[in-house]
Amino acid sequence: MGSIEHTPTAGRRVLFFPLPFQGHINPMFQLAALLHSRGFSVTVFHTHLNAPDASLHPDYDFIPVPDGGVPTDTPGTVQVTLERVLAVNRACEAPFRDRLAALLEDDGHGVACLVADAHLLTMLDVARGLGVPTLVLRTGSAACFRIFTAFPMLCANGYQPAEESPELAEAPVRELPPYRVRDLLSITAAAHPVMAEAVTRIVTAVAASSGLIFNTFDALEHAELAALRRDLAVPVFDVGPLHLISPPPAAAAAASRTSSLLPPDRGCLEWLDAQAPASVLYVSFGSLATMSASDLVEAAWGIAGSGQPFLWVLRPGLVRGSALPSPPPLPEGFDAATRGRGAVVAWAPQEEVLAHDAVGAFWTHCGWNSTLEAACAGVPMLCRPCFGDQMGNARYVDHVWRVGVELDAGELERGKVAAAIAAVMDGGGGENAGAGGMRRRALEMKKRAAKSVAEGGSSCFNVDKLVDPIMAL
Ligand code: UDP
Repeated sequence: MGSIEHTPTAGRRVLFFPLPFQGHINPMFQLAALLHSRGFSVTVFHTHLNAPDASLHPDYDFIPVPDGGVPTDTPGTVQVTLERVLAVNRACEAPFRDRLAALLEDDGHGVACLVADAHLLTMLDVARGLGVPTLVLRTGSAACFRIFTAFPMLCANGYQPAEESPELAEAPVRELPPYRVRDLLSITAAAHPVMAEAVTRIVTAVAASSGLIFNTFDALEHAELAALRRDLAVPVFDVGPLHLISPPPAAAAAASRTSSLLPPDRGCLEWLDAQAPASVLYVSFGSLATMSASDLVEAAWGIAGSGQPFLWVLRPGLVRGSALPSPPPLPEGFDAATRGRGAVVAWAPQEEVLAHDAVGAFWTHCGWNSTLEAACAGVPMLCRPCFGDQMGNARYVDHVWRVGVELDAGELERGKVAAAIAAVMDGGGGENAGAGGMRRRALEMKKRAAKSVAEGGSSCFNVDKLVDPIMAL
C-alpha cells in the first residue's frame, strides 16, 4: 500500500469473528491487520475449535466463545460442513451474547462495529440485537455470492437441487452465465435443505448489515461486483486481495504463521531456491478438500509421469479414511520414480511458494483464497474442484479469466493427469491454447492485482470508503 494520510480513528474498536476454518480465518485476520494499521483497536472473538494463537498478535484482544465441541475431523462434504456451521451458530449464540454484552458494558462507546464471517449469521443477529452495527465479510468470490442471491430463482427454475444427471450437469445456467449446472454449489436433494437454510439466512444477514466486504478486486470481478451493487441495498466493498493490501507482518517467519493452523514447512522454500525458474508444479488442495485413495494413486503416477519437478502438500486427512495425524502414504515405487525431482510437505507457506520464481503452475482445488493467491502471483492453475464454491471458481479460472484449465470431473486417470500437467506447465494448453497464453494472462492478472492495492487503486480507494462509515457507526 502507498503512503496515505489516514483519518484518525480516535481509538475506536472493531470486533471480528472469523468462521473457524483456515480459508475463513486467513482473510479475517488480514482484514483485522488492515484496519489495525488504520488505527482501530482489534478484538477477536473466536471459537474453541481452531482457536488462534493470541501470542502471535500481541496488539489484539481475544475473547474465546464456547462452541459446544465441534468435531475436529475434516467435514469432507458441503452438507456436513454446513451442518457444522449451523451447529456452531447455535452453540455460540448465548455465550457470544453474554460476552458481547459484558464488553459493551465495559467499553460501549469504543466499539464501532462487528465484522463477522457471512456464515456466522446468528452472531450478526445477536450483535444487531445489542445495538452493535455489523459488517459482513464474505470470504468467497463476488461471483459466488451471486449464486447465493439468485438461489430462490435457481430453485424455482429447477437448477437446484442438482439431479445426478451428466447431461443436466453440463447445461448452461442461462440466467447466470458463465455457470453450468455443475458449477453451482452442487447441491443434491439430501444437502438441499441445509444449503437453502444457510444461503437464505446469509443473504438476510447481509441485507440487515451496514455493508458487505469481499476479498476480491474490481479488475478481477468488475461485472459481478456491479451486479451485486445493483441487486443489494447495502454498500459493497471490494478491498482485496487482502493478503496483498494488508500490512506485512514484521518477519517473514511470522508471515506464514500468524493465522496458519498447521505449522508451514519452510524448508520447501530452500528446495525451491535450487529449482529453475517456472519449472515446478505446486500441488495443494487446501485445508478441507479430500480425495479417494485411488485418486491419490492416480494423482501420484500422473505427477510422476509428467516428468516435472513438483512440490506437493500432502496434508494429514487429505485422503478419505486415512489415519490422522500421519500424512497419507504415497504408492510404492513413487519415491524411486521421482527421486531428486520432488518435495512433499504436510503444509506449505503457500503465499511465499506461489510468489517464488521457481513455481510454474499450481494444481489446486480452487478454494477462493488459493485461486486469488495464484491469480495475484501470475501462476497458471490446473483445477480440480471438490465441493462448495470451488466448482464455480474453477469455471472462472478456465472460462472467464482463462488462466488455467479444469481437469475432467470424475475419477482421476494418470495419463490424463500427466497430459494436463504438461499443458498447464507449458502455459498454453486445453481450451486456453495459444503460445503461453495462459501464462501471459496470468502475469497480466498479477499486474492488475498489484495496481488495485497500490495508492489510487480500486481496493485502496475502497478501504478508505470502508473506514469512513466505520468511524461514523
Ligand atoms: N494454505 C497454506 N498452506 C498450504 C495450503 C494452504 O498456507 O499448504 C493456505 C492458503 O494460502 C489459503 C488457505 O490455506 O490462504 C486455504 O484457503 P482456500 O480458500 O484456498 O481453501 P480451503 O482450505 O478453505 O478449502
